[in-house]
Amino acid sequence: MDALHIALKIGKEFAFERTQKYKGNHLAHIIRSDWPNSVAQVLAKTKAPIIARASAGTGNWNAAPFMAFLDERLTTSPQRGYYPVFLYERGFESFCLVMAQGADRLKSTLGNKDALRELKRRAPKIRDAAPDWESKGFSVESFQTYSRGNVTFGRNADDPWAASVAFGKRYLIANPPTLSEFLNDLLLMLELYEEIYERIGDTFFAEELVMEGLAATGELPIAGVTGLDGALKIDEHKKRERRERNSKLVKDVKANLGYICQGCEASLDAIYGEAGKEFIEAHHLTPLSQAPKQGVQLTEKDFAVLCPTCHRIIHRLGCPSLDHLRQVVNPQLRNFHRTIKPNWKVA
Ligand SMILES: [Zn+2]
Ligand SMILES: [Zn+2]
Repeated sequence: MDALHIALKIGKEFAFERTQKYKGNHLAHIIRSDWPNSVAQVLAKTKAPIIARASAGTGNWNAAPFMAFLDERLTTSPQRGYYPVFLYERGFESFCLVMAQGADRLKSTLGNKDALRELKRRAPKIRDAAPDWESKGFSVESFQTYSRGNVTFGRNADDPWAASVAFGKRYLIANPPTLSEFLNDLLLMLELYEEIYERIGDTFFAEELVMEGLAATGELPIAGVTGLDGALKIDEHKKRERRERNSKLVKDVKANLGYICQGCEASLDAIYGEAGKEFIEAHHLTPLSQAPKQGVQLTEKDFAVLCPTCHRIIHRLGCPSLDHLRQVVNPQLRNFHRTIKPNWKVA
């Protein structure tokens, strides 16, 4: 069976088969192996290393099946990256070929809300990287797709998966295109994919890794403070601080400002004794939007000394002023730190 007829068969039979046992199911087998094999000749026409991956579920049925086309230089998993994919729409009366993005990995890093915002931010950038999408017959409309892997039938519009779509084309099961039109659309889509890869490459993934790094240390800016662009700036800020950590200026800053945190007023040697002696971090106060230009002489005024916790929190807040940080810190903690006795003895 050819790729189009398999797609139509799936559209007609999936809703019923989904009520049957998954293991050993005939349609699931067609989806997984016959469907990708049926497009091998189209894939052979592209220069890019693209693999077709189709699924009806993993161990259990998905809400709907899909077939994704993954450029292996970019991603080998539909969980991340951007790629063309066949998806079915609500009610199985239509399906579509869309340029979508993997949402799973982003969702686990950022949470659903911020992941959605990030996918929406990327979609127009993907479009701009292949300006011919419209003349090649694709459009921007809201495709009512079942999320890949989403087993809840009722959800849609705000699902990150749907928001991730850059452009696409709809096919009606009752009024399908000809096979040659269908295969030609796929080839055009794969060519656009190549074009996008040439321009964007894996920039988004590099950004994602930065966000994952910040999330790991708890410094990913909290939602609504600086947004995701802020994450990249915080990362720059941290790199700069790391480079300067052992510089004479930073040592002088600490020696002159002292070892009491300017946020919570903790003195770490009062808390931890010898192990906390002279334990403090230097934080750049220069606002993130005004990264210091090369050659500009930094002075002690450009820094605050902070305990590691306050330092992470100020990053999390998107690097506001020291005053702002102090307003965030509970004043009771400062009072406590002022009264704590430094010369305690281990009992
Ligand atoms: Zn502190
Ligand atoms: Zn800092």
